[in-house]
Parts: sequence; structure tokens; C-alpha cells
Amino acid sequence: MKRRTDIEATPLSGGIWQISEYDMVNCYLIEGEEKACLIDTGCGAVDMAAVAASLTDKPITVLITHAHEDHLGGGVWFPEVYVHPADFRTARLYFNPFVKMGFLRTQNKKRKQHAVSYLAAFQRDCKPKLLPVNEGDAFDLGGRTIETYFTPGHSVGSLTFRDTRTGALFVGDHVNLLTTLQYPCAATAEVWLRSAEKTLSLAGDAPIYSGHGKNPLSKEDLATLIDWGKELVAAGNVKPDKVKTKRGESRFPCIVYKTDRVK
Ligand SMILES: [Zn+2]
Repeated sequence: MKRRTDIEATPLSGGIWQISEYDMVNCYLIEGEEKACLIDTGCGAVDMAAVAASLTDKPITVLITHAHEDHLGGGVWFPEVYVHPADFRTARLYFNPFVKMGFLRTQNKKRKQHAVSYLAAFQRDCKPKLLPVNEGDAFDLGGRTIETYFTPGHSVGSLTFRDTRTGALFVGDHVNLLTTLQYPCAATAEVWLRSAEKTLSLAGDAPIYSGHGKNPLSKEDLATLIDWGKELVAAGNVKPDKVKTKRGESRFPCIVYKTDRVK
């Protein structure tokens, strides 16, 4: 199978690139004076290491917002990636090519124009070393630093990264157009809500870049999402159909939540 690198990279302000892997997920490359960092690696359908290297000649540190297959799967193209330890187990699951195959098959049905073969899951069956990254860890790229904040919810090890040069936040799926808290590796709604409030307190006037959907998010988007989270937690025994109704109305933002995870 031919290695693919035909994906779109869009320059954002402040030496940041947005790399969209066939509309499936957004990854970000941030370049400093000495090093660069890649935040999330996509599904693995493309050779993300080659894509990143085409944008910078600096050594690249790979940071993962959370260990879902669409953010971590492209990690197979790198020797090592930084993941929060609480997501290590999930990371190991999603490096399994058969698990990735199922995901790519679903995605391909939705995005036929990109012809992403599920066989892409098998093109590089190697597991990068998982390096731990925790709240407070900082990555000096030269002239700018990437700070790490622990924001569990969407997964128990979800992280938010902040670029000190622009103030931009990189939130992965922690807060975005469709915030999902129903996966087995998700934390409770209360935990997510605290993380979302923490993220809002970090947000200045700089953009909030997410993994999917509307991008960038505004502080107002985030505040609305928090209101919804409060409503969800206050409801306690919220019925799934209530959530579904709101989703059906396409209100932004939206939280999809499994009822039995409300404490
Ligand atoms: Zn996710």
C-alpha cells in the first residue's frame, strides 16, 4: 500500500499549522526556534511523521490530548509519544490495527471522497513508546513553551495544552462541537465540568483549537458548554432521550452522555 501524505495543512497565526486528516480530525504543529511539537497524530491513515516533517525541519515532540484512535492512531509513525498515564491502557488498545481498521471503515463510509482504505490500519503495525506527561509539564520549543493542563472528562487522561507565545489552547475533544462523555474511558460529568471550568479560566482572547467541528471555539462557546454541563449534572438522572432531543435540534454545544455515568 502506498503511503499517503496528501492531506491539508493550513497555516494559522503565530507559527501554528492545522493539519486536517481527511476531515476526520485536526492536529496541530507548533514551531519554536529550536524545536517543534505536534499535538495529536490523527488516525494513522497518512504518514503523519512525513507530513509534519514537510512543515518543519526542527525535531518534533509528539503530544497527545487523549488516547482515542483518531488522535493517537498516527502515533505509529513516531518512535515515542507523550500521553497522560491515565490513558495508557486506552492507548494500547487503540494501537491495535484491528481496532483501527473498524474505525477507519466507519470513517470511510462518511467520507468516501477521500478513499481512506481500512487497510491503512495495517500499513504500519508498530507501537511507539508511551512517555508520561502530567499537569505542569512544559515543553520548551525555543521562544515559546507548551504548557500541560490535566483536564479529564472526555477521557480519564485528557489534557489541554497551552502555547505561551499566542496563548492558544489545544483541547482535543475535551470541549468541542460534540462533547462526548459516554465512552468507557470517560470520567464522570462532574469531573468533566470541573475541567471545562478550568479550561475557561485558562482561556484568554486567544483561540481555542479543538479536534473536531467548529474551530476555533470562543470563550462564549465554552461558557455555553459549561452551562449545559451544569444542567446535565443538576439533572442527575437525566434521560438519554433528553440529551438526544437537544442533539437533534443541533444546538451548539452539545454533550452526549450516558445516563448511568451521572453520579
Ligand atoms: Zn476523543
